[in-house]
Amino acid sequence: MLSTMQDVSLTVTRILKHGMTIHGKSQVTTWTGEAEPQRRSFAEIGERATRLANALKDELGVVGDQRVATLMWNNGEHVEAYFAIPSMGAVLHTLNLRLPAEQLIWIVNHAADRVVIANGTLLPLLAPLLPHLPTIEHVVVAGPGDRSLLDGCAPQVHEYEELIADRPTTFDWPEIDERSAAALCYTSGTTGDPKGVAYSHRSIYLHSMQVNMAESMGLTDQDTTLVVVPQFHVNAWGLPHATFMTGINMLMPDRFLQPAPLAEMIERERPTHAAAVPTIWQGLLAEVTANPRDLSSMSQVTIGGSACPPALMEAYDRLGVRLCHAWGMTETSPLGTMAHPPAGLTPEEEWPYRITQGRLPASVEARLVGPAGEILAWDGESAGELEVRGAWIAGSYYGGAGGENFRPEDKISEDGWLKTGDVGVISADGFLTLTDRAKDVIKSGGEWISSVDLENALMAHPEVAEAAVVAVPDERWGERPLATVVLTEGSTVSYTDLRDFLAQTVAKWQLPERWALVPAVPKTSVGKFDKKVIRKSYADGELEVTEL
Ligand code: AMP
Repeated sequence: MLSTMQDVSLTVTRILKHGMTIHGKSQVTTWTGEAEPQRRSFAEIGERATRLANALKDELGVVGDQRVATLMWNNGEHVEAYFAIPSMGAVLHTLNLRLPAEQLIWIVNHAADRVVIANGTLLPLLAPLLPHLPTIEHVVVAGPGDRSLLDGCAPQVHEYEELIADRPTTFDWPEIDERSAAALCYTSGTTGDPKGVAYSHRSIYLHSMQVNMAESMGLTDQDTTLVVVPQFHVNAWGLPHATFMTGINMLMPDRFLQPAPLAEMIERERPTHAAAVPTIWQGLLAEVTANPRDLSSMSQVTIGGSACPPALMEAYDRLGVRLCHAWGMTETSPLGTMAHPPAGLTPEEEWPYRITQGRLPASVEARLVGPAGEILAWDGESAGELEVRGAWIAGSYYGGAGGENFRPEDKISEDGWLKTGDVGVISADGFLTLTDRAKDVIKSGGEWISSVDLENALMAHPEVAEAAVVAVPDERWGERPLATVVLTEGSTVSYTDLRDFLAQTVAKWQLPERWALVPAVPKTSVGKFDKKVIRKSYADGELEVTEL
């Protein structure tokens, strides 16, 4: 029997139309570094997005599913591009401005982007790439920055504001198949070439609904979210789309991502929510410890992208800011799990739940797979690789213009599940605890040591600012942990002190014997510990290692 329900396409266009009318008064505030931020209502953003779509179609000749790239900070214009491009049927391709030049060139060429919208402040990055980007025919420049950097470049250059001025404020939005691509984002590519994940209109729509569920971020038009997570990092975790669904106000930091301006914008604009990776929160904590600021408006902060050290969560608890841990990936749109504890618990009882990666929502199915391919129990103890599937989980990767999408064996199982490369356990009530990345786990004498556990234990020491632990080859045990540590300013703590501190919570055989002080832990393009770089520095003999 067929259902009697209507079959409507779930598209980004619907989200745009809804946000710009029903929530027309909600605001996107962009930090400018000047006395006043830029403020635009959703109605204005929607109108400007409509004008941008007209300009892209009529002036730049964008048709069909052509790719329009953005090389932009989080700001009002980027939100306009987020809605204009997919709603006209084209594909928004967000470029990660922290990638090395060769990777950006590879990615733009792979996607065959025709247009790039860039912030003026990023032209020093874009201009030298252009000779290597033959598919780019147009560069649209938004915001301040030195335009002369583009003198003599091959593509046509347009001024964003001039381009969208005097365009119609209506657009004959096409009927879009909800399964077609709306946005494209490449994985950060720590191994091999980057891989393109193409989100569909439908996946974005459904993911936005999940973001807005109370078991996830659950915000309303009474909230303001500070979107620190870049719009090029998995669509800013889905926030720009989710906000247009429910009218959540957005506070966008543009290029002012340093701890001091972030602290200032929180104190002045009083967001109720924020989203960012742990390194941002580490930096902000150091800043407000040195120069106290009022962060108390933020009743909830979503933290993810890499494991949140429990000590960081405790430090923010003391500031009255509750960090809520979330897990996800580029391939999962990214919302996988969020760590809201179950009902009816005391704060002490909640704690073990808060430090997990979180609970699975109804729409994300998960399984744990053991080394022999066996499916493991959800008993909170059996550790295996996490595999997931669902309506906003990638089932393949973009094959490039004219190429077939592909399903690498190490990423997609034969029966269609995404292999996350994350190792962990799941409790009977669906809380996921990651113990490591499959490739970061330390295999010592046939036993596994979790690098994340050691890092978390080390970062609980008051004189440790950051710590990253990697596996290094060891003649006797195969692999052993190397602890690289960043100490707080003026600290004189010794390696023996740190090892004794670790011994309070970590089994003796897991204690690292190799230690190195580093000025900073190297980070990836999206702010995660870059363990590949640490392993290489060790292999190249660049670290001053002390053996205890
Ligand atoms: P990306 O696609 O760059 O966002 O990276 C996704 C990966 O980040 C995941 O596969 C995890 O290894 C890691 N990750 C994301 N969130 C968390 C978290 N809350 N705890 C630990 N690792 C995380």
